[in-house]
Amino acid sequence: MRLVNEADVNGKRVLLRVDFNVPIKDGKVTDDTRIRAVMPTIRYLMDNNAKIIIVAHQGRPKGEGYERAYTLKPVAKALGTLIDKDVKLTHDVLGMQTTADVEALQPGEVLMLENIRFDKREKSNDPEFSGRLADLADLYVNDAFAAAHRAHASITGVTELLPSYAGFLMNKELGTFERMLAHPTAPFVAILGGSKVSDKIKVTSRLIEVVDVLIIGGAMCFTFLKAQGYSIGSSLREDDWLEPAKELIEKAKAEGTQLLLPKDFVIAGTISDDAETSIVDIADGIPEGMMGLDIGPATAEMYKNAITDGRTVFWNGPMGVFEVAPFAGGTRQVATAVAMNSRATTIIGGGDSIAAVNRFGYNDLVTFISTGGGAALELLDGTHLPGVVALDKE
Ligand code: AMP
Repeated sequence: MRLVNEADVNGKRVLLRVDFNVPIKDGKVTDDTRIRAVMPTIRYLMDNNAKIIIVAHQGRPKGEGYERAYTLKPVAKALGTLIDKDVKLTHDVLGMQTTADVEALQPGEVLMLENIRFDKREKSNDPEFSGRLADLADLYVNDAFAAAHRAHASITGVTELLPSYAGFLMNKELGTFERMLAHPTAPFVAILGGSKVSDKIKVTSRLIEVVDVLIIGGAMCFTFLKAQGYSIGSSLREDDWLEPAKELIEKAKAEGTQLLLPKDFVIAGTISDDAETSIVDIADGIPEGMMGLDIGPATAEMYKNAITDGRTVFWNGPMGVFEVAPFAGGTRQVATAVAMNSRATTIIGGGDSIAAVNRFGYNDLVTFISTGGGAALELLDGTHLPGVVALDKE
């Protein structure tokens, strides 16, 4: 994989793919972490007199043209503030005006194409669409680690047509995860949470092979607990995944990996700010009609101790319904334990875990915050990310 600083970008038109899929409220970017993460590459290109054409997506538009809800206007504005320079946004993805905007672009200037997913040919990796994108530029840089698991036109298609390079963020993300897997300082502790086992079955299986301790929280733990015969009441579970969950428990035993599951829960009948909550021990079972919505205090203590003992710690996914105050405690305690472990290399991935760390003000205390949730999990489960493979072939 060639890095952007190996390219001669002086005066060249550079098509820069980024993942600026950031939260937006009332026309304003509410968290610019993903934009700031690409600043080293943007600054490098600006300082080296490249004409920068940024390609990004936002949300999931239909792919049939402009949709106001998904315009990149707020993103272009936020980027402009960071680089202290106007960032022009094109009217449509590809069109006569876009070609004219690119022609007018001066060295060191930044132009942003409107949401690339306004055109459905992006997702279908349409060769003609890739060709038109490639025509805009002299070379291509991919700094969109968080989108590297998608074989889309602006991620893989264009690499067939332009000299292609990785950006600094892409390089850093890949290097961090590679080192974490290849040379983790023991004990290696991974924490997985979130809603579905089915989404995380592959990564759970792979992590069992490489970590010393695997901690499971969030709704995904109920499938494991039910598979072991516990009563889980009305908690979220995936009944089709009981067998695979059982197999993972067996696999952990065979590998000598400590698999930690919650032993108590915060339960309630409804998910609301004023829900009436109580604590139950899983040995006593969760009553029918009640849901486990956060790990309980004994579990939080057990998880905290395991995390504190870790020397490499990876965390993806909340421990409970952390968006709702009565069920945020477990996620906060895990975030605190990860952030306070100054002797470990701590790596966090996934939107919810990052939001939790940011919300509690711990972002400077962890070693690395990955910008990729899905991409990071696929990388960890051994999948070759299409966007990375496409850069590797040169
Ligand atoms: P995911 O998208 O799979 O990463 O899951 C994140 C979501 O899981 C968050 O929105 C949480 O509210 C939700 N979640 C975590 N724990 C639970 C739980 N015990 N019951 C229901 N939802 C949960």
